[in-house]
Amino acid sequence: MYWSERQKQLFAQLEKDEKQLNKRLIAYYKLEYSKLDKEIAAFYQKYGVNDIIEYRSLMEALSDEDRILLIEQMDEFAKQYPQYSHLMPVRKNIYKLNRLEGLQQSVVMHQLKIGAVNDSTVSEYLKKQALRGVTAAVEAMGFGKEFYSENSGILKNIVGVPWCNGKNFSERIWDNTNKLAYYLTTDISQGFARGENYQKLTKQLRERFLNVNAKDAYRLIYTEGTYVMAEGTMQPFTEDFEKYRVSTAADGNVCPLCSDLSHSVFYIKDRAAGVNFPPLHPWCRCTFEIVVDDWDEWIENYEAKYNKQQAQKVLKSFGENGMINANNSKEVSDVQYIGKIKKNIYKCVSSDIITDEIIITEKQIEHIKHRHPNDYERFSMYFEEIVSEPDYIIEANKPNSALVLKEIQSEDEKFKTVVRIATSGDNPDFKNSIITFMKIDDKEWNRIIRNKKILYKSE
Ligand SMILES: [Zn+2]
Repeated sequence: MYWSERQKQLFAQLEKDEKQLNKRLIAYYKLEYSKLDKEIAAFYQKYGVNDIIEYRSLMEALSDEDRILLIEQMDEFAKQYPQYSHLMPVRKNIYKLNRLEGLQQSVVMHQLKIGAVNDSTVSEYLKKQALRGVTAAVEAMGFGKEFYSENSGILKNIVGVPWCNGKNFSERIWDNTNKLAYYLTTDISQGFARGENYQKLTKQLRERFLNVNAKDAYRLIYTEGTYVMAEGTMQPFTEDFEKYRVSTAADGNVCPLCSDLSHSVFYIKDRAAGVNFPPLHPWCRCTFEIVVDDWDEWIENYEAKYNKQQAQKVLKSFGENGMINANNSKEVSDVQYIGKIKKNIYKCVSSDIITDEIIITEKQIEHIKHRHPNDYERFSMYFEEIVSEPDYIIEANKPNSALVLKEIQSEDEKFKTVVRIATSGDNPDFKNSIITFMKIDDKEWNRIIRNKKILYKSE
């Protein structure tokens, strides 16, 4: 499957998962609110007269009974979430609380529980998504699914890493939690000060408690999901690739905010989410594509670092995934038009030929001039004849590519040309292109015909 399709699929699953997670969290917020609601009802019952609580009576010391309830609530939280117990007030301060402060502290405890549940649930969720992203990228490189799953060390580079304004998802969750706790406790004190009855006070409280928690959670899950997906799919490429470009169509819509940025190429090591790497804005669902200026150079380096077999494996997989674009960071305009090829001759190379036009890029011309001095000047006039009427088409070691052999009788010379076929996995603006070209002797000609797989031979 093409990488761009795979990315769409990853995001489709991500969206499904985040909806499910949201539902689960909202159910939990409702449950937690119903507990708070019971406490407030009891509070009115105990201290109210005709469903109104006199503000002055709220300033009286918290009853032993209420204090015990509060302390129990805190103990339970500390036991269940020891990692967050430092967020609670020290116990001795509980003895100084008045009735209002006691209720407010209980509200804070409910919010802390929500924060704790959000933190642990979202953390699990993001790890799962990050691993899916990593696995997809590893597969695109032609390695097995199991490449990283054993080694969760890679997830440490992704989940929980601060980004954008220097915060990680957990800090953002606790920021939201604290902010909402502040609003809720203020709602309560102001409601009592206005002399509101139970109905009125809880109506606003309930709305804020449920809506804001749900909204905060959804926005966070969405944006952090894009972050771990982009970072997770990028991680496996960081070792052996240098550049990327932002890609805007991961969810099938072109993101207007990111489409300007998608023309620029960045170094992978310089990527910064929120700046030049997704997510670039709230509700961003953009992703990236790998950019390689010169595949010949890449394969040389890669072979030197690992071995030829592995290089071929990655290249093959990249080809199958539609991730190889000849000179894909080059401007499409830097090309010279050569002519047309016959699709029915080249169908032995790929059944997915999108155009019959063939070009050569300035860059490849430079390359030919550099490596085979004078050949370009002397023989470029034969390019069209070579590619449109080949003697032989030979299997090449890169996907969607072929060696084209042609003897030019009038010159009494033989030529070898590598042609790259543009397929539907490429940028639709790309044409078929000549990658290299050189004059060869009879010995080399015969060697190729003898040793390589012949895909086509002219009659
Ligand atoms: Zn975007």
